[in-house]
Order: sequence, then structure tokens, then C-alpha cells
Amino acid sequence: MASLQKHILILGAGITGLSTALSLLTSPTTKNHKITILASHVPGDLSPEYTSPWAGGHWRSHVGLSDSDAENRTWDEKTYKTWTRWLKEGDGLGGQGETMEEREKRMGLGFRTCHYFWGKDGEETKGLDGSGIWFRDVVKDFGILDLETGTEGGVPKGAIMGMRYKSVCFDPPRHLEYLFERVKGLGARLVKTRVDTSSGLEGGVKDAKRQAGVEGIDIFAFINCSGLSARHFLPPEEEGKLFPVRGQTILVKGEAEKMMTYVGIPGNPDEEMLYVVPRPGSGTAILGGCKQINNFSTEVDEELNRRIIEGVKKHKLCEELRDKETGEFEILSYQVGFRPGRKGGARVEVERDGGVGEGKVDGTWVVHSYGHAGAGYQGSVGCAERVVELVASLDGESV
Ligand SMILES: Cc1cc2nc3c(=O)[nH]c(=O)nc-3n(C[C@H](O)[C@H](O)[C@H](O)COP(=O)(O)OP(=O)(O)OC[C@H]3O[C@@H](n4cnc5c(N)ncnc54)[C@H](O)[C@@H]3O)c2cc1C
Repeated sequence: MASLQKHILILGAGITGLSTALSLLTSPTTKNHKITILASHVPGDLSPEYTSPWAGGHWRSHVGLSDSDAENRTWDEKTYKTWTRWLKEGDGLGGQGETMEEREKRMGLGFRTCHYFWGKDGEETKGLDGSGIWFRDVVKDFGILDLETGTEGGVPKGAIMGMRYKSVCFDPPRHLEYLFERVKGLGARLVKTRVDTSSGLEGGVKDAKRQAGVEGIDIFAFINCSGLSARHFLPPEEEGKLFPVRGQTILVKGEAEKMMTYVGIPGNPDEEMLYVVPRPGSGTAILGGCKQINNFSTEVDEELNRRIIEGVKKHKLCEELRDKETGEFEILSYQVGFRPGRKGGARVEVERDGGVGEGKVDGTWVVHSYGHAGAGYQGSVGCAERVVELVASLDGESV
């Protein structure tokens, strides 16, 4: 049952902030609440401080089989299932007779076959039979590829194991716009502004209230979806846990037929891998990439571009996108983005130290959801639902 209307502020309009807003506005326990999003960057903007537009991206859970990963598995599974439902059944907004093609374009999501190869042994390749992959029973059409015969398509040189499944790929700029339109349609208010966090979390909460024009009004919760910027206003111990994981990608013309990934490539540093991800409905695809820990360089590394292009060609990851005569890709742009890494994984919890011996900060509950590293999209729906649970659980608490 929905509770009495409360006012909630969300800091951030990346995939985390927008998914959280959507979940709050559609969940039975919170759908009556007033939502105000405060963000310096919103869909359509590009900045190194705004990770979401730079994602690849596709659903490929990186979570393991251990008990400590259970919550992340839930987030990823819920997201896969929700995206599948939106694509198959629609979201009620597409109008009668909307085709799958139109729906993919509108949502910036698409179902495609994914082939994923490993060149080195690890937890996931144990037994070489898929038993190391937790999501084998969650995704559609999971199977282990026959590397000998290569009957399902090309096998990159040096691969020791390959899996195939139906994944959901996304066009990040389009998917962000889609969520943005949905939450605005449901009544969320946007204040495009930089919240002054120079004096810490409490100062940030106060400034957010001032800028939202709600000073003196009872604000029930402040949800921190600020990505890597959380390091600017949290205590030193928490700040020290946050780090960038640099990614560099190449946007090319044409939508690849499949998602293709090759990791642990013999002779390559572990921080470099190869992937091809079609961006559904956009007529483009992304080639990548790298995961460079603690590298904050915004410069495009030309040498890395060359290695990505040469690697994708060498391993024949998307031959259909190469020009028939020249053999080249039509390159549209190069980009760099910073995944919001956090030691110990994403922080999704209620702040329990308001600084004055109580949980609230300036009289408002704070719920954190940041540090989602390379999984902010693929866990977005499930994680947002967790935030809703946390907000709902605070309803009965007094401090
Ligand atoms: C190359 C690359 C490939 C990736 N591929 C995938 C993939 O395949 N699958 C996947 O799931 N993920 C992928 N990711 C990771 C994913 O992009 C991130 O996990 C996700 O975008 C993080 O989103 P966020 O909303 O938490 O943070 P952000 O997108 O950074 O948003 C932060 C928001 O907070 C706002 N903000 C912060 N501080 C303030 C302030 N003081 N005042 C006002 N506003 C503020 C910002 O303006 C912004 O709106 C990839 C990332 C990269 C770089």
C-alpha cells in the first residue's frame, strides 16, 4: 500500500539516479512521493564527470558465485528480466501496433546474440562447461560454443572457452533519454544545477534543499546517485575507496550482428580486451576497449585505438562492418569515460552516521547508491528496487 506523500531528493541523473527515480515513481510503496532530481549533467550532456553516456554497453554480469555476491546477482537478474519484459511486452507507452524495431529505437535497448570468449583460465572457465557462470540458467539460449568446429561463427585465435547467450545491448544516450522522459512523465521535477558539496555531505544536503526551493519543508530522503563525484564530499575513509576505471571506445558506422567479446587475450595486458556492441536502433556499434584502474586521463590514446581496430580485424569480430573494398571501419568518434570503481563494490545503503549521533543528515535520511563500476546499467533496475526497499523501510523509523 502506498504511504503518505513524502518529498525525496535525488542527486544525479545518470543511469543510477534515473532508474532510482523510475522505481520510486512506480513502486506501490513509494509511487505517491514527490521526486526532485538535482544534477549538473543530464541526458544529452557530455562530460568526464558524467559516466553514463560513455558506456558500451551490454548486459554481461561480472558477478561471481560466492555468497557475498548474492545481492549483486539479484540486481543483475532483475534487470535482465525487466529489460526483457519491456522489450517483449512493451511499457504501455509505445502505442498499439508498435513494432519491435520501433520499440528498440524508442527505449535504446535490443535483444541480440552475444558470443563471449576467454583466452585465459579463471573462475568462470573452470571445467570449461559453463558451471562457473552463475547466470547460465537466467539468460535465454545459454550454451558453450564448440571451438573446434566453430559452427556458430568465428572463433578468435587462442580462445580456450566461449559462451553464447541472448543478451540485451543498449544505446546509452538513447536509453538515458528514454528514462528521463519516463520519469518526467510520471511527475519528477528536474533542477539542473551543481550542488555545492564543498563542506561535505551535510552541506550538500542543505544546498540541495536550498536549490530545490524546499528549505523549511520536511524532506524525507536524499538519495546520493552521484557516481564518482561522491568522493568529493564523503569522509576520507570513503573517499579513498573510490577510483576511476578508465574506458576508451570507438564508435563506428553500422550495427554489428552480434555482441562479441574476447578477454584474457594471449600476449595482451589484462586491462585490455576486445569487444563489439551494436547500439540498437542507432545504425552504429561500439568497439572497445580497456579497464585502466586509477587512470584519469581524458586524452584519447591513439596507440590504443590502433590496437583495438587491429585486434577486432585480426580476430574477425565484426567482419560485416568493414568496407568491402578497403577493409576499413567507418569511424565516427573516439571516446573516453570513467567507470565509478569502489573497493568492496557498490555502496547501496542508508547513511547511519549523520554526524551528531543520529542517522539523519540535516533532518533527512540519506540513502547511497554509487560506485557501480562497470555494472551501472546491467544492475540498474534491481539496484533501484533495492533503494526503494530501503526508503520504504525508513518509513517507520524516527531518527
Ligand atoms: C567504456 C565504458 C563501458 C561501460 N560498459 C558498461 C556495460 O556494458 N554495462 C554496464 O552495466 N555498465 C557499463 N559501464 C559502466 C556504467 O557506465 C556506469 O556504471 C554508470 O554509468 C554509472 O552511472 P551513475 O549514474 O552511477 O554515475 P554518472 O553517470 O556519473 O552520474 C552521476 C550524476 O551525478 C551528478 N552529480 C554528481 N555530483 C553532483 C553535484 N555536486 N551536483 C549536481 N550533480 C552532481 C552528475 O551530474 C550526474 O548526473 C561502462 C562504462 C564505461 C566508461
